[in-house]
Amino acid sequence: MREKLARFMVGRNGADALSKFFLYVALVLVIITMFSHNAIIYLLAIASLVYSYFRMMSRNVSKRYYENQQYLRMTDKVRDKFRGASAKAKYQKSKAVYEREQKKIYKIYYCPSCKQKIRVPKGKGKIMITCPKCKMEFVKRT
Ligand SMILES: [Zn+2]
Repeated sequence: MREKLARFMVGRNGADALSKFFLYVALVLVIITMFSHNAIIYLLAIASLVYSYFRMMSRNVSKRYYENQQYLRMTDKVRDKFRGASAKAKYQKSKAVYEREQKKIYKIYYCPSCKQKIRVPKGKGKIMITCPKCKMEFVKRT
């Protein structure tokens, strides 16, 4: 059976990205039809399914390849946007984790004279802090 199918598919386009896309579209439309019973949506589902199978069975591989490339080019921007968004989310998450870690280790003080932000290690008891900017000294508990 597998062999028969493999032989049948020789010289045919097979499942490319655009065929899969129409297969998904057909699936979504079928699900919508189950709830809405809309004849037009149902016809669109069938059409998408037929087109998807037509692409997979097609022997005009070069033309299907060209269409698939166009589809990939068209959707490239969308996929890029998704990739960009997930990278940004990852960066923001790591930044938040970093800041939380810093808060655990350090205590932030502001110099009473020049308002310079000074980061000192936590849990050292009473310490003398020297402002790196104006050299003002002050005592704080960490
Ligand atoms: Zn200062």
